[in-house]
Amino acid sequence: MAKKALISGITGQDGSFLAEFLLGKGYEVHGIVRRASTFNTDRLDSIYADPHEQNASLYLHYGDVTDGSGLRHAIEKVQPDEIYNLAAQSHVRVSFDQPEYTADVVATGTLRLLEAVRDYVANSGRQMRFYQAGSSEMFGAAKPPQSETTAFYPRSPYAASKVAAHWYAVNYREAYRLFICNGILFNHESERRGETFVTRKITRALGRIKLGLQDKLFLGNLDSKRDWGYAGDYVEAMWMMLQAPEPGDYVVATGEAHSVREFLDVAAACCKLNWKDFVESDPRYFRPTEVDYLLGDSSKITSKVGWKPKIGFQRLVHMMMEHDLELARQEQTLAKAGHRVVLRGASHG
Ligand code: NAP
Ligand code: GDP
Repeated sequence: MAKKALISGITGQDGSFLAEFLLGKGYEVHGIVRRASTFNTDRLDSIYADPHEQNASLYLHYGDVTDGSGLRHAIEKVQPDEIYNLAAQSHVRVSFDQPEYTADVVATGTLRLLEAVRDYVANSGRQMRFYQAGSSEMFGAAKPPQSETTAFYPRSPYAASKVAAHWYAVNYREAYRLFICNGILFNHESERRGETFVTRKITRALGRIKLGLQDKLFLGNLDSKRDWGYAGDYVEAMWMMLQAPEPGDYVVATGEAHSVREFLDVAAACCKLNWKDFVESDPRYFRPTEVDYLLGDSSKITSKVGWKPKIGFQRLVHMMMEHDLELARQEQTLAKAGHRVVLRGASHG
């Protein structure tokens, strides 16, 4: 019998990589998808199969982490062996504008899912393993390098909500002896990263600027440093921690930090552009409290579980830049054919 995984947040960057990864391991994959007025499953296009087809292994269910009864129904229906809780309002800047909503989804949403798991395990007698998507933002202002023993110092409603979710997860592990792992993942990017996160905002804009589709790129703080890894590597870490004999909490990072300015340097060099010619500062993109320096020490997951990152900073930026240059070429073709190209993301983030 194939193992079954249930993923909340399957339509996001990580959800799509994780679904692909688990299908490759022979899992039957189920995802919780929010109802939207337009299709929001673009990132799953390459793996989507009509559920009427024989041998379909990917199933999508409507649900929302703000709706506890729906989560319970999904768990009872799927009876998963593993749950990956990736659903989140995941944008730090937006969390300052929507703090209550962010807390409801990120903190209380996790609690709702944990409660549903607790009841399901108690009533069915079945075991289940649970992954909680924690974030390096929880370390916030803590001095780098940050590891599992570093005290949290959250600097945004998003980060504070992730800290609450982290401790709910620890408490449910200890109180009800559930197999729960917190992954404390440092920033991870890819060609599927949302276009309002700084890396993708940069690579999207540079591609368009190179091809004459956009003139300016407005950004906020260029001095903050992040430990940027590749999302494809990081979903493997999520799965590996759930396969370990005992549950635990793990930092997942590359151990190398770069500033936003350095990201711009490498991305612009790929396109033979000088970013100083077109990058302008916009106060809208600064945060009321910034996280200056995140640098992860992932030696615990390497020694205990055997995970290591495969893709480093230079290769990551090149992969994203090549992808977004190709997207800009496609947009240019459309523009030449008289279609209006909407520069989504150019004035957000
Ligand atoms: P993402 O691309 O923003 O995806 C978030 C997912 O959550 C999407 O599928 C989204 O659905 C879904 N979602 C949002 N609100 C929901 C709700 N109320 N109910 C159900 N689903 C909801 O984020 P990501 O980069 O894949 O990150 C995955 C997880 O890891 C998140 O929890 C994030 O906070 C955390 N994390 C990410 C990073 C990183 O660098 N990427 C680092 C540390 C931790 P829609 O598609 O409908 O919007
Ligand atoms: P975060 O680390 O989860 O907040 O990921 P982001 O990609 O949103 O931001 C990374 C860093 O880039 C933060 O220190 C931001 O302040 C900085 N940054 C500078 N300009 C921008 C911008 O225009 N958009 C975003 N999202 N971040 C920016």
